[in-house]
Order: sequence, then structure tokens, then C-alpha cells
Amino acid sequence: MKKYDIVVVGAGISGAVIAERFANDGKTVLVIEKRDHIAGNCFDYIDKNGILVSQYGAHLFHTNYEDVWEYVNRFSDWYPWEHKVLAQVDGTLVPIPVNITTVNELFGLNIQTEQEMAQWLSEQRPPDSNPTNGKEAAIAKVGPVLYEKMFRHYTKKQWDKYPEELDASVLDRIPVRVNHDDRYFSDKYQALPKGGYTQLFASILDHPNITVMLNTDYFSIRGKLKSYEKLFYTGPIDRFFSAEGDLLPKLEYRSINFVHETVDTEYFQPNSVVNYPGLEVDYTRIIEYKHFGGQKSEKTTIVKEYTVADGDPYYPVPNERNRVVYEQYRQKAERLIDVYFVGRLANYKYFNMDQAFKNALDLYEEIGVAKRSKQKAA
Ligand code: UDP
Repeated sequence: MKKYDIVVVGAGISGAVIAERFANDGKTVLVIEKRDHIAGNCFDYIDKNGILVSQYGAHLFHTNYEDVWEYVNRFSDWYPWEHKVLAQVDGTLVPIPVNITTVNELFGLNIQTEQEMAQWLSEQRPPDSNPTNGKEAAIAKVGPVLYEKMFRHYTKKQWDKYPEELDASVLDRIPVRVNHDDRYFSDKYQALPKGGYTQLFASILDHPNITVMLNTDYFSIRGKLKSYEKLFYTGPIDRFFSAEGDLLPKLEYRSINFVHETVDTEYFQPNSVVNYPGLEVDYTRIIEYKHFGGQKSEKTTIVKEYTVADGDPYYPVPNERNRVVYEQYRQKAERLIDVYFVGRLANYKYFNMDQAFKNALDLYEEIGVAKRSKQKAA
């Protein structure tokens, strides 16, 4: 096998950014990817109904980071897309995050102003709260009634844990609004790549210094790699150390079973994503991809998401037990020289897409800064 300066394991966000940054620096880079495609979980393609769909769930880009926004715009044009989600509650579709419309619909009220909504919420919420887990976090925002209707069972389906068994940060991802704003996110930049994510990744990786090896498990070929300067590993951190023969406890992940269906109708549901926070169905949400970018087709493709324990690891499970276990892995990782763990799985963090971009960009900068100060000192 040829010799490369940099070896990157994984062609998702973190791997692609690291590869591009070092290639741009004049380094030769080998990207090793287990799957048969680039783009990690952002991988999308045109399906048999002529619709651009994602293989691994909906990916909505949103960020307040100027540097991340500037970076992603180098590789694709983007169109503005403010994501909205509806939830099926008590037989009706209501906006989530909870806003004035949600409360009026579910409780037959006629709240008009932000003051009235703030007043209603303050009557629901416990007087003082300093949430220490997901349940307390959700109740502190919306009170126990909406918690029960919209968060408790969804969380159990998603994580196989009740909210009290998870960190407050998990439920804190969802805000509550005192106005009519029905956007899922409120970041400054909210957009989707024209032509899809796979094209964005192809463009990031399109550099003469970058070689991508698909269908290749790093652990089965690593003995064949010629010496390199640095290794960037973006897979699950516990897999890395178990391959080394380490016997630390396993980290917990959640996976998703995506069930794609064609429905012979123009539209299946009125919105791209409908959540099912109740116990009446096992799936957490249904995505109808043609809504993204206003795609046209005779039939429609829907995807039901069932969160499961086994399968590709998608979500780290943020709670105390896993934090303690991860910390042991992190300490081992820190002792390795010229091996870097980067991304959602390697850092065991529930990153949004922009945080993954940011982390990889920052890591590259930090390595450059460290190198320059070493050279200065020498
Ligand atoms: N959540 C919920 N009900 C919903 C939507 C979200 O209880 O209708 C909770 C659930 O615990 C979920 C968390 O809020 O895991 C974060 O939701 P988000 O939509 O950010 O999850 P992701 O899109 O990352 O799967």
C-alpha cells in the first residue's frame, strides 16, 4: 500500500473536514470508510420515486458559527430552509417546539399574546427548578401535562430510557416558545445543500491529495498501512480500544431502524417530519422527504424511524453511567501520540451537524497552532 501522511478513519463530517484541511496543507491523505459510500449518516440519494432521500434520517443544517457557515459554503450552494416539525398529540397535529398554537389547540384556549402565554406557562411550571435530569428539564419548561403528552413516551421510545434516566441536556435541546414561532431551530443560518449532502461531501473530498477507500474496515487493514504522521479516528471510541484488546465496559448507543415505504399518493402528511410522541405507535417519527426543497413526484416516499439498541451506532446515550465509562476511554485516548479522536462517536457527544464541523475545524487549527509554537521554540 502507498504511504500517506495522514490517515482518516471515516468519511462523515469529521473525517471529510480533517481530510480536506490537511490535503489543502499539501499533505497526502487516505480516508478509510467501512460503508460503501461517503458522507456518513448524511448520505442521500435519488430513490426509485425520483425523490432525494437520506438513508439515515433527516439532516437539517443550522448554525450560529460564522466560520462553519463560511466553510460549508465553499463546497456547495445552499438554499434557505427553516425546519418545522408537527407532533401528533391527542389525535391532532400541533407544532413542536411548544408555542401558542400548540397550547391553544391542545387545551382549547385562545391565547393571543406573549404575556398570556408566559402567564399560562408559569402556571404549569413548578415554582423553582434546577433540573438535574431530562424529566425535570422538560417539566421546568412546559409543566407536567405537556411533558406527559409530548416528551415522556417519545423519549422512552427514542432512548429506551425515561427522561429521568437521561441528562437534562437531552430534553434541553427542544426550546419552548411564548410566541407563534414554529421553527424547530432559531439559529442565524438554516439551510440545505442544493443537490444534497452526498454532493457536498464529494466536493469536500475532491482534492488530488485525498484518496478514499470505501468498503474497508480500518481494523482489518491497519497492519498494512505504511507509517504515517497522524491518525484521525471518527468511529466509536470503544471499538477502537476493544480492537486493541482493552476490556473496559462497553459504551451504550442507540441505533435507528429506518423503514422506507412508497405511498401511492402525492403527499402523505402536511409536513416533512411528524413526530409521534404517544404509545399508539412504536416509531418516533415519520419523514416525508419530498417536502425538503419542494420536490415534485407522483408518488411519495415516507420513512418511519424506530429507535433500537442494535445496529449502527447513531446516538451516544448521555447519562452519568456513560459519562464515567467514556472518561476512562478518553484518558486512554489522551495518552496516544498522533492519534486523534474526532466526532460524535469518537468523542461520545450528541453533536449537531454544525458542532461536528466546528470541532473538526477547531482540532485542525489547534494542531497547527501547536506545531507552529513547537517550531518557534526549537
Ligand atoms: N423529544 C420528545 N418529543 C418530541 C421531540 C423530542 O420527547 O416530539 C425529546 C427526545 O428525548 C429527543 C430529544 O427531545 O431525544 C431531542 O430531540 P431532537 O429532535 O433534538 O432529536 P434528534 O433530532 O437529534 O433525534
